[in-house]
Amino acid sequence: MSAEIICVGTELLLGDILNTNAQFLARELADLGIPHYYQTVVGDNPSRLKQVLAMACERSAILIFTGGLGPTPDDLTTETLADFFGVGLIEQFDIIEDITRKFAQRGRQMTPSNRKQALIPEGAKVLPNPTGTAPGIIWQPRPGLILLTFPGVPSEMHRMWQETAVPYLKAQGWGKQIIYSQTLRFWGIGESALAEKVAPFFHLTNPTVAPYASQGEVRLRVSARAPSQGEALQLIEPVVKDLRQIAGTDYFGSDTDTLASVVGQLLREANQSVSVAESCTGGGVGSLLTAVPGSSEYFKGGVIAYSNDVKVSLLGVKSSDLDKWGAVSKQVAQEMALGVRSRLATDWGVSITGIAGPGGGNESKPVGLVYMGLATPDDRVECFKYNFGRDRSRTSIRHQSACYALDQLRRRLLSRFHPAQV
Ligand code: ATP
Ligand code: MG
Repeated sequence: MSAEIICVGTELLLGDILNTNAQFLARELADLGIPHYYQTVVGDNPSRLKQVLAMACERSAILIFTGGLGPTPDDLTTETLADFFGVGLIEQFDIIEDITRKFAQRGRQMTPSNRKQALIPEGAKVLPNPTGTAPGIIWQPRPGLILLTFPGVPSEMHRMWQETAVPYLKAQGWGKQIIYSQTLRFWGIGESALAEKVAPFFHLTNPTVAPYASQGEVRLRVSARAPSQGEALQLIEPVVKDLRQIAGTDYFGSDTDTLASVVGQLLREANQSVSVAESCTGGGVGSLLTAVPGSSEYFKGGVIAYSNDVKVSLLGVKSSDLDKWGAVSKQVAQEMALGVRSRLATDWGVSITGIAGPGGGNESKPVGLVYMGLATPDDRVECFKYNFGRDRSRTSIRHQSACYALDQLRRRLLSRFHPAQV
């Protein structure tokens, strides 16, 4: 038995508004543990709405509609539903009274078109709308099928959902199970590579495991259905343990963890500090680090060394090396990292120099080429070279560079202070 969301409105199809109603309802259904496999957006068109209905009531037991309950001629949801199931519309006097009262409160007179909102299919119950004029309905047009309709206006829909639909669905036995999820986060491995490693887990049914990728980060969402959060956790925990084991150090954290918060935690635990020297990221690494509350405990500061002059004067990069190798080079990245580490007196020094584009690249040093330096507590320096590709946007290259720098620091901290995990 599953639910299906059907949002009615041509403005949704035109891309004028974002379908936040579907997002809200989807989350609510998950909270109630009601399975939900389909969402449809359909314009204000009776015959297409009927086609959607014909399909939906074959495959789902609860159909949730939003939009098209208003007074204007394009608001067709209620009458189309009645027509589809072959029942008449009945004018409900108490709705007319309610609408009249609401208009009077606003010092206005009810218009004849508003009477339309009082027409309810025979056999349906009214789902009151405390804030607006268009009520919804709860209707069982045939055994085993429940229809719920809501106005399109999100604030009205949310309140009606919470106050009427949720108690109704709970009374029907839903909401006894919850869906609880944990998100595992990975950096330094692609979505398909990770998916191949953990492929057998995608066949699990409770919990389920699903991959997501965005901006270089890959996530696995592990979701369990159970009567309580504690029981869901018991289902999730062994799977999470296995997934972490398989992914090794490519796993960096869960749920609200970020690369910066994880690096911060590792630095704090080891009583270590870090400083940054940034060229093409223009402070991006420092910004990520300082977004974490309490970062002053381990982040001392940084130098945005955008010009060669600043690289020389504030970081001690050798002019001769800038001339010989260029600003975007292994040598300069290393000197920047060593320079900032010694000048700011930190345990670690991170540097970034690269070509974020769209201009400035050439054959030997294309857009997307980035060097990262990492000066370590034992006075050594490492360098990592990345080529993010010339087709990426400037924003993406800068963001990736900052994240990879944090990731390299994370990996070095792990191998130095938690060798058993590596
Ligand atoms: P009204 O009585 O205001 O006419 P209605 O039930 O007829 O309400 P619509 O006319 O379809 O609903 O939509 C009213 C407004 O609600 C839209 O202009 C839009 O701003 C918002 N809306 C409608 N559908 C959605 C949706 N799926 N997600 C977010 N907002 C929506
Ligand atoms: Mg409308």
